[in-house]
Amino acid sequence: MDTGVVSYASNIGWRDVAAVEGLRTRLGPGAPPIRLENDAKLGAIAEYLVGAAADIHDLIYVTGETGVGGGIISDGRLLRGSAGFAGEIGHMPLDPGGQPCACGRRGCWETMVGLAALLRLAAPPDDPVHDPTVDLEQRLTELRRRADAGDPATRVALERIAHGLALGLALLADVLNPRAVVLGGYFAHFGDYLIDRVRSELSARVMAAEAGRCEVMLSTLGFSAAARGGAYLAPMPCS
Ligand SMILES: [Zn+2]
Repeated sequence: MDTGVVSYASNIGWRDVAAVEGLRTRLGPGAPPIRLENDAKLGAIAEYLVGAAADIHDLIYVTGETGVGGGIISDGRLLRGSAGFAGEIGHMPLDPGGQPCACGRRGCWETMVGLAALLRLAAPPDDPVHDPTVDLEQRLTELRRRADAGDPATRVALERIAHGLALGLALLADVLNPRAVVLGGYFAHFGDYLIDRVRSELSARVMAAEAGRCEVMLSTLGFSAAARGGAYLAPMPCS
């Protein structure tokens, strides 16, 4: 339901924030039509229309950012669920004794494979890759350089991320039997380090043969997927 209100966004601490109304007020009387949508759902739409999984009618797009969310296309339709929360895959409780999550619980999938997990696993807290004042893509480029140079901590961290990804994706593949899983955000940035292990563990874990014909793909849209999906959904301007 398009209420213009963000019910809950754990990573930025928003509950029941009237985002559309707030934007409309700030933009004033000349504000264009504004709609609200979840970033993972927008990413899924972009991947379905022009990305790696274009025209694949059953797919899951997984954001790889601070939060881990999912956009699910089933039989060519975006899955929203009864209250719009379908796709909150980052909060599947896969490690109940694990790290605290921004949602207030422990061991959500996001704490195992989100960007914070990669940084935590790859570098000690005083390492510059944790510095939030440095542009994220710059920090990821530095981690990429370390991985390419064979840095053991970075390589082990990526192995653990790949293992964690496969755990969650196997559950999703068993439940939804997608034809494709598209890994977005930072997962795509490190795709060549992740994808072989993710594919092999997925095949081993999913009940159906050949992971139910589920193909793991890397997003070609990078961090722009959500913005592109938003552009496709935006109403055409009136002339
Ligand atoms: Zn959580």
